[in-house]
Amino acid sequence: MSNRDASAVDEASVLIAGGGMVGLCAAAFLAQRGIRSVTIDRLKESSPLPRAAFFHMRTLEMFRSLGIEDAVRERSARDFVPEGAIVAMDCLAGRKLGDIMPSLNEGVEALSPCRRLYLNQPSLEPILRERAREAGATLIQGAEITDVRQDPESASVAIRDIDTGAERVLRGKYLIGADGAHSKVRDILGIRYEGRGAFSNSLTIYFTADLAPWIGDKAWSIIYVSNPVLGGFFRMNRTAQAGFLAVNIVGDPLRDPQAASNAAQDVSEDHLIDLVRAGVGAPDLAVRIDGFTRWRATASVAQRFQDERIFILGDAAHLMPPNGGFGGNTGIHDAHNLAWKLALVLKGHAPARLLETYASERKPVAQFTVEQAFARYVARTAPWLHSTQKPDAVVHDLEIELGHLYGSPTATHADPRETFGLPGSRAPHLWLTRSGERVSTLDLIGNYVLFAGADGGAWTQAAAAVARRLGGVPLDAYCVGKDLGDAQSRFAQAYGISPKGASLVRPDGFVAWRSHGEAADPASVLHEALARSLGHHCS
Ligand SMILES: Cc1cc2nc3c(=O)[nH]c(=O)nc-3n(C[C@H](O)[C@H](O)[C@H](O)COP(=O)(O)OP(=O)(O)OC[C@H]3O[C@@H](n4cnc5c(N)ncnc54)[C@H](O)[C@@H]3O)c2cc1C
Repeated sequence: MSNRDASAVDEASVLIAGGGMVGLCAAAFLAQRGIRSVTIDRLKESSPLPRAAFFHMRTLEMFRSLGIEDAVRERSARDFVPEGAIVAMDCLAGRKLGDIMPSLNEGVEALSPCRRLYLNQPSLEPILRERAREAGATLIQGAEITDVRQDPESASVAIRDIDTGAERVLRGKYLIGADGAHSKVRDILGIRYEGRGAFSNSLTIYFTADLAPWIGDKAWSIIYVSNPVLGGFFRMNRTAQAGFLAVNIVGDPLRDPQAASNAAQDVSEDHLIDLVRAGVGAPDLAVRIDGFTRWRATASVAQRFQDERIFILGDAAHLMPPNGGFGGNTGIHDAHNLAWKLALVLKGHAPARLLETYASERKPVAQFTVEQAFARYVARTAPWLHSTQKPDAVVHDLEIELGHLYGSPTATHADPRETFGLPGSRAPHLWLTRSGERVSTLDLIGNYVLFAGADGGAWTQAAAAVARRLGGVPLDAYCVGKDLGDAQSRFAQAYGISPKGASLVRPDGFVAWRSHGEAADPASVLHEALARSLGHHCS
């Protein structure tokens, strides 16, 4: 970078290395908060590889806040059967071994305004890209990051145009490394992955074949298969005519564990067709192979998630097997956690110390989620590893999707049906009314929000002065039962307070603080709580 023309330096508040799912979400979340970013990706268009498809409620809540929930849902309905189940079979034509998720959204209605769905990455990424651009983000496609630097004031990347070879330097206040498993950013910073490492040289086979005779009108989207030929899973589109088969294991792992975990060794077309046929259990099935990719099933977390002005997100920060569909979702949640903090720091509403909570909050979540994905891999595809690898016990999906606890001294996660607004947990969803219209509590969150109980008017009255004392940090305040309708008076219980209490929710929808009841001096109590959440005090 040193010998480059200084005139070829562009500036933005935040640079984002990698415009995959996570980088695009970071750009959209920042743009939504009025922060200018430039995202650089070496690909000229979205990767055509479907990979992630299972998106969780929490992710949909984030898409809802971006205003793209409907677009995502419509696209999903075109490509996948709604509410598609996850089942385990020996092969498609054979015996059912179990129901992993009998219906995608069973039992979630009360927890979220959103529902889980399936949508392939090549369908999702254009929606994210359009949203980010229209909100003001700049995206550079077809340019590779070749170098990364930082100084006390800024972070910069050197980029090279893939077609012309032209080089230039971009400079920002901060840099987000969302450049995937082989992250250049992480590499240059010398940050390594730690953890269980790679345990299967896996293969995804994209194919076209008529699986309707076996799937029929069953609403199945993911079918795990486990038989003497292979272990892995199918993910099928709506018509059951196309999809992919992910293969983690071939042959008998007890006889030759090395060969069994090297599923990607033979990628001859005949072998790929044989694998699809064995997964279906139909030796003569007509199969067209549309492509394949090799990937390593890995359970690892980056040593550090922050280096001064540079943050690592998504697959660059954590790698996990696809079992449970957590990888992309976790990356999107990283971006959501960081974006509001960057926005408040860049706008001068919070000290830079707030940014340190990105790593302290997200790394434990990544470690927990990676281990849960590994535990699901062992339970669903490689049970013989259980005795030697001793994965953690599998916890309920809801605890991973919605149950993270930030800053808790005792636990990283809990059952979100039992946290009731505990500080550090995601603020509960509850349907309320505003001017006669139904609104979720989550729809009201974007700035810091103070929700007071029906008799907690003293808290909301204090809010404006507290926000002013803290430099005008955006703080919305509602007395639930007065400013917002709560027909069944459920709010106080849902948020674990009395009608005289209040709950302070961060811009990312996590509870920062609550008071069960009234206070003698609500302004000073609220000031202390908000200042602490903004990072003005060391804990
Ligand atoms: C078979 C399979 C199924 C999966 N299913 C699910 C699922 O159902 N749900 C789920 O949540 N996750 C799933 N995942 C995981 C998910 O695909 C990843 O976690 C997700 O793609 C990570 O997104 P990312 O943006 O961090 O990285 P990537 O998608 O890898 O994006 C990184 C981007 O950075 C760019 N880049 C890299 N280096 C440079 C450079 N030097 N210069 C410029 N650009 C660069 C790349 O071109 C790329 O666009 C699955 C994965 C697999 C393999």
